Amino acid sequence: MAKKTATESFVTEITPQSEDFSRWYLDVVRRAELADYSPVKGCMVIRPYGYAIWELIQQALDLRIKATGHVNAYFPLFIPESLLNKEAEHVEGFAPQVAYVTHGGGEKLEEKLVVRPTSEAIIGTMYAKWVQSWRDLPILINQWANVVRWEKVTRPFLRTTEFLWQEGHTAHETESEAEEETLKILDLYADVCESVLAVPVVKGRKSESEKFAGALRTYSIEALMGDGRALQAGTSHNLGQNFAKAFDITFQARDKSVQHIWGTSWGITTRLVGAVIMTHGDDSGLVLPPLVAPYHVVIVPIGRENWRETVLPRAQDIKRELVDAGIRVTLDDRDERPGWKFSEWELRGVPLRVEIGPKDIEKASVLVARRDTRAKQSIPMNGLAAALRTLLDDVQRSLFERARRFREEHTHRVASYDEFKQVMEGRPGFVIAPWCGLAECEAQIKAETQATIRNMPVVTRAPSASCIRCDAPAQAEAWFAKAY
Ligand SMILES: [Zn+2]
Repeated sequence: MAKKTATESFVTEITPQSEDFSRWYLDVVRRAELADYSPVKGCMVIRPYGYAIWELIQQALDLRIKATGHVNAYFPLFIPESLLNKEAEHVEGFAPQVAYVTHGGGEKLEEKLVVRPTSEAIIGTMYAKWVQSWRDLPILINQWANVVRWEKVTRPFLRTTEFLWQEGHTAHETESEAEEETLKILDLYADVCESVLAVPVVKGRKSESEKFAGALRTYSIEALMGDGRALQAGTSHNLGQNFAKAFDITFQARDKSVQHIWGTSWGITTRLVGAVIMTHGDDSGLVLPPLVAPYHVVIVPIGRENWRETVLPRAQDIKRELVDAGIRVTLDDRDERPGWKFSEWELRGVPLRVEIGPKDIEKASVLVARRDTRAKQSIPMNGLAAALRTLLDDVQRSLFERARRFREEHTHRVASYDEFKQVMEGRPGFVIAPWCGLAECEAQIKAETQATIRNMPVVTRAPSASCIRCDAPAQAEAWFAKAY
C-alpha cells in the first residue's frame, strides 16, 4: 500500500454515486486496490484485496458444487480451431470474440489454436471418449479456469477480455435429468448470491435471442445494481443434444440402442465481485458482506504519543483472541492519525471497526463501529469475539434486506408501453410486463428504450394480458431492465 500523508483523505477522492455512478465504480475499484489496468488493453490485474474477495466467493461456490455431487477437473487453455467449428450455432455466437494462436516455438502452426472462450468444444471431445454406456452417466465435472473473449468496451470485473470463472459441464441419460441439473445449478447460484454475497437475484429463463450460443435453453440469475441497472450474475444452460451431436457423444442405452447424451453447462465469473461493489457500496467506498470480506474486523488503536507502549499490546491481545475465534482481523498499527485509518478501512468496506484507547482499557471495553449503518456501541472486552460474531451475522442479514428493499422499490409492473418508457427514462430498475414472445418485438423495445428482457420466471402464469408493445397475446411475463 502506498504511503499517504496524514492530511490526505481517501474518501473525498471518490466521485459521489449520485454524480456519476460509473465513475464512482472505477474510483472504488482503484482506491480500494481491488484491480488495476494491465499493459494489455481490456485485461485487468486483480490485486490481493480484490482477489481475496474472489477467493471467498470461489470457496463458497466450490463447497456447494461438490456437495451436489460434482467433481473438479482441468482442461487445456488451447482448443484446435476445427473443434470449435463443429457446432455451427456455437461458433457463430463466439466467432467475433475469439483470440487465436498462430505461432508456437518459432514456427507457424499447422492448425490455428483458439484461446478458449468457453470449453464446450474441448470437453465435449473428451466426453465422447469417456462415455460408452449408460453406466458411465451422469458425468458431473466442473473446472475453475480463465477464459478469453475479445471485448471492445471493458470495465474491471464486469467485462474484461480475460476473466476467471468456473464452468460446469455435465452429461446425462435423459432430457429431464439434464433439465433438472440446469435448474438445480440455477438454485445453487441464487443461494450463493443471496446467502453469501447478500445480493438478491431474480431467477428465470432467457429469451431465444439472449440464450447461450448452441443451447436449447438458458436460465439466468439477475441482480439489480445501485444505479438501477441489472447485472446478469450467472447462467445455466440446458444444451439438449446439440453438442452431443456435434461432438458425437453417444452411449449404449439401457435398451441397447445407441443414443446421444443430454448436456448442460453453467458458469459464474469474477463479475460477481462487481456485483458486490455495486449492490452494497456507498459514497465512502466499499461495503462488504462479512461472508466475502477479507477482513471482518479492523482494530484501530487510539492514543497519544506513547500509544505504542500503552494501547498497542492490549490491541495485539485482542487480535489474537479474535483470530483464535475464527474472525478475520487486521490490526492497523501504522503511524497515521486514527481518522485517516477510519476513512481508509471504510473505503475498503471492512464490516466492523474496533477502536481501542486508554479510556477503553480502563473500562475493559472497546468501541465498535459498523460500516453499513455507521452505528457505534461500546462492548466489553470479556466475550468480545462472541459479540462481534453476532454483529457480523446482523450486518450480513441487514445488507441483504437493504438490497432486497432497494430492488422492490425499483421493480414496477406496468400496464402500458408509455408507462414502460417513463420508468426506463426516469428512475430505472426492473419492469415486469407481458410479452408476445416475438424476437422482432423484443428488438424494437430494446431500440426504443434500451431495456432488454433479463429473464422470465421459470414457472410462468397463464398469460391473460396482451404484449406491452404490440398487443399480440402475451406468451410470458418478462422482467425488463437496462443491463450491464
Ligand atoms: Zn410484442
